[in-house]
Amino acid sequence: MQFRNFKMIGYVVYGRGCFNQLDEILAPRRVNDAPMVFLVDHFFEGKPLANRVPLRGNDQIIFVDVTHEPKTTYVDKLAQGLKEQFGTVSGVIGIGGGSAMDLAKAVSLMMTNPGSSADYQGWDLVKNPGVYKAGIPTLSGTGAEVSRTTVLTGPVRKLGMNSDFTPFDQIVLDPELTANAPVNQRFYTGMDCYIHCIESLQGTYINEFSKSYGEKALDICQEVFVRKNHWDAESDEKLMMASYAGGMSIAYSQVGVAHAVSYGLGYLLGTKHGIGNCIVMNHLEEYYPEGVKEFKHMVEKNNIEIPTGICKGLSEEDFDKMIGVSMGMKPLWENALGKDWEKIMTREKLRALYDKL
Ligand code: NAD
Ligand code: ZN
Repeated sequence: MQFRNFKMIGYVVYGRGCFNQLDEILAPRRVNDAPMVFLVDHFFEGKPLANRVPLRGNDQIIFVDVTHEPKTTYVDKLAQGLKEQFGTVSGVIGIGGGSAMDLAKAVSLMMTNPGSSADYQGWDLVKNPGVYKAGIPTLSGTGAEVSRTTVLTGPVRKLGMNSDFTPFDQIVLDPELTANAPVNQRFYTGMDCYIHCIESLQGTYINEFSKSYGEKALDICQEVFVRKNHWDAESDEKLMMASYAGGMSIAYSQVGVAHAVSYGLGYLLGTKHGIGNCIVMNHLEEYYPEGVKEFKHMVEKNNIEIPTGICKGLSEEDFDKMIGVSMGMKPLWENALGKDWEKIMTREKLRALYDKL
C-alpha cells in the first residue's frame, strides 16, 4: 500500500479584517525591485477592495477576466506578459473566487517552467517550484485555497496542474471579503463544498483523516444552509472554514459522481464548476440518496434556481465528447463506485444521466 505524502499550504492567516495585514505579510517576500503581481477578480474593479491592495514600488494589479473558467491560453498570456515586462516577479497573489486563485497558482508556476501550462495538465508534471504565491478567497466553497491543483481548460483536456509545487505559500482567510457575494453565486460555490463532503464521505477512499475534516465541513454547510434562517457575518466566517476543511477532506480522498459528470458539462458547454455540480447533484438520488434529498431541501429553502434541460438538442457527437471527458476521470469513479466502477457506470448509463440534465 502506497500512502499519499502530500504537500500543504505554507502559512494561513484567518479572521475578520486580516486582509489588512497583507502588506506586512508580503514585505519579507519582496525580492529586490521585482514587483508583486495581484491577480484580482474583475468583479472588484472600481470596488473598495481594489484600493486596499497594498501596492509598493512597481507592483501591478491585473484585473483577471473570470467570465469563463481559466484556460491554459490565458495563463500563458499572463505569464508571458509578466516575463516580457519584468523578467521576474516577487510573487503572484490571487484575490477572488476559485478561478482567480487558480489563475494565480498557474501563473506563478509558469514564471519558472518552460513551454505552455497545457504541458503540465496532469499529475506531477511540473518541474520547478513557481514564484511565491498567495491566495485570498472572496467566495467560499471550492477549497482551491488549500488544494494541490489548479483546474485549467486546455486544447485537449480540462485537467489541473496537480503537483507538490501547486499549493499556495500563504493564504489569507478574511470572511469579510465574502460578505457581499450574490445569493445565487454564494449558494453554488457553497454547494461545491457540500458536494465535496458528500462525495468524500460516501466514497470508497474514505479514511479517518478525510472523515474528520469532511464531517466538520458538512456540519457547517448544514448549519448555514439548513439550520440558520438568515445569512449573517457568522455565516461567512463559518462557510470560509467549511471550504478549507472540505478541501482538506478531498486532499486525502477524492470527489465522486457529481464532479465526474460536471467536468463533461464544463468541457463541452462551459458550464461553471459550482452551478454544474448543482445541476448534476439534482439527479443523483441513485448514488447519494440522503445527500440529494438534503440538497433539494437547501435549494428550496434558500430560494435558488437550478437550471434544467441544458443538454436538450445536443448531438450524439456532443454526448460522446462529454461521456469521454467524464469517463476519463477514473479516480473519481473508482472512489464513488469502487474498483469495478466500469461495470456499474457504462456509457449507456451515463448517456441517460446526461439526457436528464
Ligand atoms: P469563480 O471564481 O468562477 O467566480 C464566480 C463569479 O463570482 C465570477 O463572476 C466572479 O467575478 C464573482 N465573484 C467572486 N467573488 C465575488 C464576491 N465576493 N462578490 C461578488 N462576486 C464575486 O467561482 P468559484 O465557484 O469560487 O470558483 C470556481 C472555479 O474554481 C472554477 O474555475 C473551478 O474549476 C475552480 N475550482 C478549483 C479547485 C481547485 O482545487 N483548484 C476546486 C474547485 C473548483
Ligand atoms: Zn468542486
